[in-house]
Amino acid sequence: MNRLVVISNRVAVPKARGAAGAQGGLAGALNSALKKNGGIWFGWSGGECAEFTGDISVRQADGVTTATIDLESQDVEEYYNGYANSTLWPLFHYRIDLAEYHREFGMGYERVNERFAQSVIPLIQPDDIVWVHDYHLIPLGERLRDRGLKNKMGFFLHIPWPPTRLFVSLPFHERLVRTMLHYDLVGFQTTEWLESFLHYCSKELGADVDEATGQISLDGRVTIAKAYPIGIDYDHMMAQCDTDIAREAEQRIITSTRHRTAMIGVDRLDYSKGLPERIDAIGRFFDNYPERVQDLVYIQIAPPSREDIGSYQQIRQLLEQKTGQINGARSEVDLVPIRYVNKGHTLAELAGFYRASKIGLVTPLRDGMNLVAKEYVAAQDPEDPGVLILSRFAGAAQQLQDALLVNPYSGDDVAHAIRVALEMPKEERKARWDKLIQTVREDNVLDWTENFVSDLEAIGEEASLRS
Ligand code: UDP
Repeated sequence: MNRLVVISNRVAVPKARGAAGAQGGLAGALNSALKKNGGIWFGWSGGECAEFTGDISVRQADGVTTATIDLESQDVEEYYNGYANSTLWPLFHYRIDLAEYHREFGMGYERVNERFAQSVIPLIQPDDIVWVHDYHLIPLGERLRDRGLKNKMGFFLHIPWPPTRLFVSLPFHERLVRTMLHYDLVGFQTTEWLESFLHYCSKELGADVDEATGQISLDGRVTIAKAYPIGIDYDHMMAQCDTDIAREAEQRIITSTRHRTAMIGVDRLDYSKGLPERIDAIGRFFDNYPERVQDLVYIQIAPPSREDIGSYQQIRQLLEQKTGQINGARSEVDLVPIRYVNKGHTLAELAGFYRASKIGLVTPLRDGMNLVAKEYVAAQDPEDPGVLILSRFAGAAQQLQDALLVNPYSGDDVAHAIRVALEMPKEERKARWDKLIQTVREDNVLDWTENFVSDLEAIGEEASLRS
């Protein structure tokens, strides 16, 4: 078994599994893999320094070694807030109207990828396998190869890959994708994003692409591209459901909503999540079915995100304005139809909120996967499960076909689905949930990690000519 070097923008310091506050999700799964294989998790500490030194802070916790570096404030501004979150994030979520192209963002991105390469390379041993994560670090593989690294290297993209016609609006798009072909294995969340990537490589780069195997050949190098849909840590989620915190959270919703049906949305405050469109759709539901205003309470948990970026400040203002308008028009002294909670909650609390809510409303305009949809399903009472309403544009929709799939841009469509969910007989709810939970249970993040790592390990020396 080879040692594993995980590289991502940020590093999650491990907590013991099974302990109070234990880590689940991707961070927990990567830490499990690191514990099993041995190795290091490398990334930015989240801290800033006056001048970049490359000093590495190494920590050991629960059998996992983490290594982090500090970045300069200009790096954070240009690489993290800039190119990663104001250029690539909007573009990859199909929002070219929000994508900002500034030369200094691109330069900051290149500089920080260079800093990552320079800092991590002395930590990598000859037989290690290297796994780079997400859009912050796309060119890192090339930087490492430039420094002579011959190890097996994989990359996973946690967000969508846009269609070629959108992607070519990115200045230097070709250069960015060429850097990806220095990895041996490139993973995507869904076959849709994978196909977009293969299409780009074939049409724009003129690479030799085998769609059946995902093999891309260009300039004597071979990369395999494949879809690995991520799941939740099912056992961890079930453990969270079985806590006093979850039971108390469930009671808080049940007591405060009384005879009304609770419908819940849980999203980082991000424009990709379709929050203003969702509030409009709820308004449409009240307009179309005024007799149902008494029946429904919508609870929107929306923790703030990337608050230094203008487009995120705007989305927050818009959401507050729309929520205020509907509540102003529809509230009574003893009834407020929308509860907007602008703060984060623990997974145990969310587990209780999900279980108390008979409708889960997950309507992103575009989402790499969407784990909230899977968590909502996992938290339901098998004897009386709620209904998941899910955007067809979330990566999760490919797997969760038994949800009520909707077009999040259509207020009428979402309003109609809410009505169907409110009226769905228990028998149908159970039949749909039985299928959904099977998928959620099977697509476990721990297996996901193992699949990616074992595919990377299995890639033969002949797969990459590594000139
Ligand atoms: N989450 C959380 N507390 C909150 C809101 C969200 O812990 O108050 C978690 C949620 O349980 C889920 C993750 O954040 O695991 C969000 O993942 P998702 O894939 O749905 O969206 P992302 O934020 O990654 O775009």
